[in-house]
Amino acid sequence: MPKAPHRSSATAPQRKWALLLALLIVLAAVVTVPYAAIALPVVAPFLPIFAATVTLTEALTAYLLMVQFVAVRRFYLVPLAGAYAYVAMLVPIQLLVFPGVFAPMGLLGGNTQSAVWMWVFWHGGFPFFIGLSLLLRQSRVHGALGQRVSVGQAGLLFSLAPLLACAMAWLALQGDLPPLINGNSFKTLSDSVAGWSVWGLNVAAVALVLLLPKKRWELVNLFLFVAVLASLADVSLTLLSSARYSLGWYVSRLLSVVSSVSLLAALIYQITQFYQELATTHASLLRSSARDKLTGVYNRNSFDNAAQAEWQRAQRSGEPLSLVLVDIDHFKRYNDHFGHVQGDFCLHAVAQALARSVHRPTDMVARYGGEEFVILLPGTRTEQALRIAEQARRAVADLRIPAHAPGLSVSFSAGCASWDANAGFPDFEDMLVAADQALYKAKAQGRNQVWAQEDQVLRPASAYEEPQVAY
Ligand code: GH3
Ligand code: MG
Ligand code: MG
Repeated sequence: MPKAPHRSSATAPQRKWALLLALLIVLAAVVTVPYAAIALPVVAPFLPIFAATVTLTEALTAYLLMVQFVAVRRFYLVPLAGAYAYVAMLVPIQLLVFPGVFAPMGLLGGNTQSAVWMWVFWHGGFPFFIGLSLLLRQSRVHGALGQRVSVGQAGLLFSLAPLLACAMAWLALQGDLPPLINGNSFKTLSDSVAGWSVWGLNVAAVALVLLLPKKRWELVNLFLFVAVLASLADVSLTLLSSARYSLGWYVSRLLSVVSSVSLLAALIYQITQFYQELATTHASLLRSSARDKLTGVYNRNSFDNAAQAEWQRAQRSGEPLSLVLVDIDHFKRYNDHFGHVQGDFCLHAVAQALARSVHRPTDMVARYGGEEFVILLPGTRTEQALRIAEQARRAVADLRIPAHAPGLSVSFSAGCASWDANAGFPDFEDMLVAADQALYKAKAQGRNQVWAQEDQVLRPASAYEEPQVAY
C-alpha cells in the first residue's frame, strides 16, 4: 500500500506551483534589471495601496502563524510570526513618514532619510526573523521550547517583534543616521554597507530555507522559500533601480506584495485542506461506528436507534412497519465442523446476501447478535415483508455454502412481525417478542423456513402466498 503523505507535506502539484512562482519572480526581476532605472510618473495612490495591502497580509499571516503555534506548539512558529508582525508594524509607520504621501516632508517629524532607513530596517529585519526561526527549528532545544513555553509567554516573546519595529522606526526618525538617499536617488544606498547588509541578510535567508536539512518539504517551508526569494528579488531591484518611482522601484514594490501574500495563501490553503480532512475523517468514523466490523451490515446500536425512530414515525404516520428476525440454522455445528474462522466467513456471506435482498433506502439489515440478524422494513406490510424474507432465504440457499453434513447447505430460519394502524403492538418490544416467537416456530417446524405472527396467530410464509389461479 502506498504510504500516506505527511499531513503538512507539500504535494507534487504544490511543489510545481511553488517552483513556477519562484521562476516567475526570478524572471520578473531579471527582465526588469536592464530597464530598472527608467523613470516613471509618480502615481500618488500607489504607495498607500501597496502599504495597506502589505500591512494587512503580513498581519494576517502573523496571526495565522501564532494560532498555529497555539494548536501545534512548534516554537519556530513564534519568530516566524514575529517576522510578519515586525513588517506589519513598520510598513504603516514608513507610509506616514514617506515624503509626499500625507505631507510633503512626511509626518511624525522625520527627515528626508527616515523613510529609506525604515526600508533598510524592514527588509533587513524580515530575513533576520525568518533566519532566526529556521535556525531555532534545527536546534536541539526546539522540541523542549514547544513543550515548556506557555501560550502567554509565547505571546510576550512574539510581541517583541512589533516592539522592535517601533524602536527601529524611532531610530530612523531621530535623524542621526547617515544619509542613504539624495532627493529620489538611491545611489548612496546602493553603495552603502546598510544596503548590502540588507541584501546579504536576504541571500542568507534564501540559502537557509534551501539548504537546512529537512526530511521533506512542508507546505509552509515551500511558500516561505517563495516569500524570501521575492524579498531578495525586491531588495536587489531596489538597489539596482537607483531612484524612487523608477521601473525597478515599482516592480520591487510589487514583489514585496508577492512576498507577503505567498505564505498567507499557503496557510489559508492548508486550513481548507484540514477542513476537508476533518470532514472525510468524520464521515468515515460515522460510517465505521454504525457498522458491524465482521459482517459489514449495521450493528446492534444502529438498529436500536433506527428501530426507535421508525417506530415513532410509524405511530405518527400510521404507515406499517415490519421486522424480520433471522437466525442461521445449526450454526454451532457449522463452527464445530469447520472452525470459527470459517464460521466468520460464513456469517459475512449470509449477512451480505441479506443486505442484497433489501432495496429501499429506509430498509435496514443489522447484526442483532451472534449468528442472528434483523431486517427492519418501514412502510412494509406482513405479506411484503414475508416476500422479502423468503427472497433472502432463497438467496442464502443459492450461495450453496456446504453445511456440517454432506448434501446440506447453510440456511436460516426467520420470524416476522408487523405493525399497522389496525392491528398494532403497544410497543416495539412486543413486536420483537412476536417476531421471536415466529422464529421459534420456524425452528420447531424444521428450520430453513419463514413464519409470521399476526393477530397472535402463527402462520408460515406459504400461507400468505397468493393462490395460484388455474386456467
Ligand atoms: P439453531 O439452528 O437452533 O439456531 O442452532 P444454532 O447452533 O445456530 O444455535 P445456537 O444459538 O446454539 O448457536 C449459535 C452459535 O453461533 C454459537 C456460536 O458458536 C456461533 N456464533 C455466534 N457468534 C459467532 C461469531 O461471531 N463467529 C462465529 N464463527 N460463530 C459465532
Ligand atoms: Mg441463535
Ligand atoms: Mg442459530
